[in-house]
Amino acid sequence: MTCSQPTSSAYRGRFAPSPTGPLHFGSLVAAVGSYLEARSRHGEWLVRIENLDPLREVPGVSGEILSILDAMGMEWDGDVVYQNKRHKLYKAALATLERQHLIYTCTCSRKEIADSTIMGIDGPVYPGTCRGRSLHKGRLGAKRLRTDNKPIEFNDALQGRVRQRLESAIGDFVLQRADGVFAYQLAVVVDDAEQGVTHVVRGEDLLSSTPRQIYLQQLLGYPIPSYLHIPVAVDAQGTKLSKQTCAARLNAYDPVRQLMKAIRFLGQRPPAELINEDIASFWKWATENWKQEMIPRKTAEIC
Ligand code: GLU
Ligand code: ZN
Repeated sequence: MTCSQPTSSAYRGRFAPSPTGPLHFGSLVAAVGSYLEARSRHGEWLVRIENLDPLREVPGVSGEILSILDAMGMEWDGDVVYQNKRHKLYKAALATLERQHLIYTCTCSRKEIADSTIMGIDGPVYPGTCRGRSLHKGRLGAKRLRTDNKPIEFNDALQGRVRQRLESAIGDFVLQRADGVFAYQLAVVVDDAEQGVTHVVRGEDLLSSTPRQIYLQQLLGYPIPSYLHIPVAVDAQGTKLSKQTCAARLNAYDPVRQLMKAIRFLGQRPPAELINEDIASFWKWATENWKQEMIPRKTAEIC
């Protein structure tokens, strides 16, 4: 950690957007939820740009995300971290798992895996075809992590008790793709630990990823943060907001109106007059009156 990083804190949260498209209302909700959880407890709030996959990164979007956060009056602690600058850390974590004989090279095609008849909660369950193979340093293929069926359990602050058996629900999962790109599951765990994140607040669409992350934290000897999965905004068809749906690109105009909408979505009840106030007054009200217990558990329709 460099000296520009925040000092140690009892609460350290983060917002970790992927710059695959402009910020929309759904991402604002995740940003605001994590920000208010942190600030209402006098905690720190970090921003990390999750740009692992160069093919999915849209040029200019990282800068746009940061300027919108800035326009919204959301101040982050320390320097913004970019995942594309941290390959060394992910490589070292993968090497630690390799030494535990938990990694193997998988050469199955997408089609071969899709033909696996078992559908899990997050797509087809990898049937373990390449499991018996040893890790071939030179062989091209994806690096998969061996899983088992010991249940992984945790208490989500909003969603309650979650329990998952990785081997049957997910299967051995990829930590590094055949083209060398590190997987989100590995990078997020390495970064949350390396950055000292104590509390993860993010969209409920990632709830089914959390057991994979806890499994990795256990194997790598990292502390396990607290988790809070907030509802995600969906459109009238029940699809998560994304560039493809009705989600309008956020703009830097009228920040208070957009922030009011975001905290209402999170179950808070700001007085209507707050809309006429400036950003600083909005944040003062929102931090002082933030109530985690008012966040609805379910996804809500937004357009
Ligand atoms: N980068 C992920 C996304 O934008 C979020 C990762 C996380 O919060 O763990 O969906
Ligand atoms: Zn395989």
